Amino acid sequence: MGMQQTPLLMHRLLERGAQVAPDEEIVTATTDGYRRQTYKETRDRAHQLAHALHDAGIGIGDRVATFMWNGARHMEAYYAIASMGAVLHTLNLRLPDTDLEYIIEHAQDKIIIVDADVLPLLEKLKGRMPSVERIVVATEPGCEGWKTELPNPIDYEAFIEGKPTEYDWPDIDENSPLGLCYTSGTTGKPKGVEYEHRSQYLHTLTLGMTDTIALSAADTILSIVPMFHVMSWGVPWAATMLGSKHVLPHRFMDPKRIAQMLIDEKVTISAGVPTIWQGLRAVVDAAPDQFDFSSLQRVTCGGAAAPEALIRWYWEKLGVEMVQGWGMTETSPLATISKRIMKRSHLALDDDQIIANLAKAGRPMPGLDIEIFDENFKPLPHDGKAVGEILIRGPWICDSYYHTDQPDKFHEGWLITGDVGKIDEEEYLIITDRSKDLVKSGGEWISSVDLENHIVGMSGVAQACVVAQPHPKWDERPVAVVVPAEGAKVTPEQVIEHCAKAFAKWQLPDDVMFVDAIPLTSTGKMDKKVVRADLADKGYKLPDLRG
Ligand code: AMP
Repeated sequence: MGMQQTPLLMHRLLERGAQVAPDEEIVTATTDGYRRQTYKETRDRAHQLAHALHDAGIGIGDRVATFMWNGARHMEAYYAIASMGAVLHTLNLRLPDTDLEYIIEHAQDKIIIVDADVLPLLEKLKGRMPSVERIVVATEPGCEGWKTELPNPIDYEAFIEGKPTEYDWPDIDENSPLGLCYTSGTTGKPKGVEYEHRSQYLHTLTLGMTDTIALSAADTILSIVPMFHVMSWGVPWAATMLGSKHVLPHRFMDPKRIAQMLIDEKVTISAGVPTIWQGLRAVVDAAPDQFDFSSLQRVTCGGAAAPEALIRWYWEKLGVEMVQGWGMTETSPLATISKRIMKRSHLALDDDQIIANLAKAGRPMPGLDIEIFDENFKPLPHDGKAVGEILIRGPWICDSYYHTDQPDKFHEGWLITGDVGKIDEEEYLIITDRSKDLVKSGGEWISSVDLENHIVGMSGVAQACVVAQPHPKWDERPVAVVVPAEGAKVTPEQVIEHCAKAFAKWQLPDDVMFVDAIPLTSTGKMDKKVVRADLADKGYKLPDLRG
């Protein structure tokens, strides 16, 4: 062999930021300003955190959870936990406590690092987290003075204080896990996806490619996409590898504050779901002369389809390129990318053609295979017409769920994505539908099957079908279509009230409609495509409940 067999371990990339850009900043938004620390400080603190975790009994392969916003301490946790060979389990702040309880138990988390302001959410799990030995509480200015009855709590700063700033990162196998993220299933319990050093290492490198999001050492990136979901699309790793200036919004997610961060920190690139970009657009539209976004060059938009009108608005009003990405928790997540110019011949396209291309999910990331298949797993042509189930395979695509057997999600080495679409002659993937039964509201999942099962448990209800309907702000909201039992009288308010007993407020249907029957497929399942098409035919519009 001619080359060294260097294992692709994440610490190799993470140590680079502090080496090449020691004075570059990681900026965390606080109640009335920003907290700044350098890459060198972040690196040293990450080494200290690794020592503290090690001294608290964390070894290679142990799960350490975070329950945190995007902030510098969360960045330190990413750095330390992955580099020391432990597993960073990011807990989603928006999940109902029953799901969190299940996930923490399933992952056997030993320590949870939690932001002080969300401590009350975790407090609900008191006595329900038997695997958790210790809670480490991180405080940003304005959140000091926390109290908790959770086990063995310690302040983050006290936890790392006095620890050495050099940790000898272990040489482990490159296929060892470094991260764990749970995704909501169509029904039943959330499923864990484990990320490995090798898969994240390769994924991280692609973020710097000119033909993808082109993250660079010259950029200031505002990471809005949560670090508690799918490793924040890989941005924390890539920004640290490159030494990009990294701005983190913490809990300050309202569009006005986001606008201010973009301006104050002269942000050049940002990443978030369409709801974020819709929100920012509304703020700018309301006061067009108030904002100077001249530094901003591009925003990456993913997690749900980026509407063409939104892409056009960012380009025409702000001169900002909206780069679309498609992927999922199981795909690390970047699977396809669409940017203005994807090949040399696109230089000759007019703006309408370019924007039409941007509205497609995109072309495959290097090294991934993406195909569409019919119901017998026969591949379909890439002609922009044939519609099939999207399957994907490659070095950062998951091949199984964490300690959960789900063979129906895989086929001969391919992941069955649950998304439906077509591929055109230029290899653009176009998402047309979803075969998995989920509603995605503001980047967060709502299980239509769970809502349906709950609604049919109500007396006076014979059948229930929950479908997603497009919403200008949240992308999608759930609508319940209900068949009442013979002679029964049920009101929409009663259905919503019944759902409120088991679901978070943001998961409740926006509307309840009563029908005589629900259309069925040939195999007797509720035919949601037809239900959605019927609503569209009738010109259905969601009631304006959620702004
Ligand atoms: P998650 O696992 O929560 O990251 O969600 C992944 C799912 O979000 C995908 O399987 C799609 O259903 C949806 N999604 C993500 N990106 C896009 C996109 N660009 N266009 C349409 N749907 C998307």
